[in-house]
Amino acid sequence: SRGHIAHADAITSNGAHGIASSEAVPKKKKVVLLGTGWAGMSFLKDLNNPSYEVEVVSPRNFFVFTPLLPSVTCGKVEARSIVEPIRNIIRKKNVDISFSEAECVKIDPQNKKIYCRATVNSKLKGEEEFAVDYDYLIIAVGAQVNTFNTPGVEQNCHFLKEVEDAQKIRKNVIESFEKASLPNLSDEERKKILHFVIVGGGPTGVEFAAELYDFVNEDVVKLYPKVREFVKITLLEATDHILNMFDKRITNFAEGKFGRDGIDVKLGSMVTKIDDNEISTKARGNGNTTNTPYGMVLWSTGIGPRPLIKEFMKQIGQGNRRALATDEWLRVEGFDTIYALGDCATINQRKVMEDISEIFKKADKDESGTLTVKEFQEIIDDICERYPQVELYLKSKQVRNIVDLLKEAKGDAAKESIELNIEEFKSALSQVDSQMKNLPATAQVANQQGAYLAKCFNRMEECEKNPEGPARFRGTGRHRFHPFRYRHLGQFAPLGGEQTAAQLPGDWVSIGHSSQWLWYSVYASKQVSWRTRALVVSDWVRRFIFGRDTSG
Ligand code: FAD
Ligand code: MG
Ligand code: MG
Ligand code: MG
Ligand code: MG
Repeated sequence: SRGHIAHADAITSNGAHGIASSEAVPKKKKVVLLGTGWAGMSFLKDLNNPSYEVEVVSPRNFFVFTPLLPSVTCGKVEARSIVEPIRNIIRKKNVDISFSEAECVKIDPQNKKIYCRATVNSKLKGEEEFAVDYDYLIIAVGAQVNTFNTPGVEQNCHFLKEVEDAQKIRKNVIESFEKASLPNLSDEERKKILHFVIVGGGPTGVEFAAELYDFVNEDVVKLYPKVREFVKITLLEATDHILNMFDKRITNFAEGKFGRDGIDVKLGSMVTKIDDNEISTKARGNGNTTNTPYGMVLWSTGIGPRPLIKEFMKQIGQGNRRALATDEWLRVEGFDTIYALGDCATINQRKVMEDISEIFKKADKDESGTLTVKEFQEIIDDICERYPQVELYLKSKQVRNIVDLLKEAKGDAAKESIELNIEEFKSALSQVDSQMKNLPATAQVANQQGAYLAKCFNRMEECEKNPEGPARFRGTGRHRFHPFRYRHLGQFAPLGGEQTAAQLPGDWVSIGHSSQWLWYSVYASKQVSWRTRALVVSDWVRRFIFGRDTSG
């Protein structure tokens, strides 16, 4: 079994030093990483502790820069420009890393073993299954498209999750224009073929609609002028607005722009069924059902857990959750050696109110039974670190300093020499837990989590020697590191016509051509390698000069 490989290595290196002793060099700890997406790639890039042996298992031997996937659908960027072979990343490392192109199909936490199925070659019949032992398991398998079991979606819709999806969409878009240009069709048929429907008004759906609109306006008018008038783009959104997760100003601008462009945005519109000719929707207000003929549908309504994760959650008693629950150190609840991050996981943030007595006791250094302003001030940074909701709360209330917060708890008559008893302390913090939010399923979160976990592994021994670590509020268990903290750097929504909406921290909103340039520069700088950066930038330049490549 693969578990012995590390041991064999240890013996060889002993021999090389000419030490004939039975005392073996300590066996390298084996880390198994599942997934080569944002979370996995970021972990690999930042890991630099050679005392681990890492085995990466993923059905994909490359990383995909997903924010540029929508650009691939209409040929603004080439597929190969946004992928980076994983072996390019690992060959540059000082850590012993191997890769297996396979899918993990089962996790056995009792025996610290995973079961895999190779995806390399279907001719490997009978040899495609293998098991891998681990000391630490890192689960970063991402999520899959959620169809909400809507009939006909699997069979008739495009998804936009993988590179192959984007390539299929591109081919289908171009073929639609070729097909609609054939001489023997009625106008009705042309209309149907060129009716593009997008289900879901989130960032991906909106960006695809914008890409498609630009493609029609900039290239189709020149290349397929006779069919331009038959093109229709419809965006179906079940709630009241598109781009819900963005600032109102961005939502309004996007809805306005799409309206002027002639993109038919249907809000409050639930898709109930899709057959091979028609898409059925139910209007939220009056419940009326409409059947509309379509040529192509992109389904982009959010994500759900992969079968492996569903199965694993069942196994470990996490039941019907939408993602694996971890603590703030990204460890799967109840398991010391299994980590989960990115889209397949959510952090189960601890509530202040659950630990309030313990916090009070630690803060009350002189054991007087009351808390002075000084005692409170000394502990507040640690509280904010352990419970990020406290910081959000202080910000949201614009409490300038702790004294204000304490005064509030004590009532107006309070002076600077406030002391709080436990009940007053509780009431001062009673609202903070309402600020808790799940982190979004984004590349930004996955990327930061991967980097955080790599740092933990880089410093593991150091921290084991000093198990108390820097953070004073540990809740339960032996936590050795600062908990994971997310730093939101902002969000883009490309809206087409060289205009992008940007929402930066502090609710700074900018919409238009200048943010489009910000978008170009941020996405160029975020590329994982100089190779993909050069490819992406030259694709952009090529498109400016020559237009899109429309050979399907
Ligand atoms: P993924 O990146 O999905 O990686 C999962 C990895 O696990 C893959 O390598 C997969 O092959 C592998 N895997 C799957 N099953 C198994 C298995 N059984 N065993 C082993 N390995 C497995 N986020 C942003 O922040 N900004 C954006 O602009 C943005 N745009 C996006 C546009 C599109 C079209 C899409 C689809 C997503 C976009 N996102 C964006 C979201 C972002 O891509 C995800 O949040 C991010 O990819 C999550 O990272 P992950 O590592 O958890 O999962
Ligand atoms: Mg990953
Ligand atoms: Mg990815
Ligand atoms: Mg997550
Ligand atoms: Mg005291």
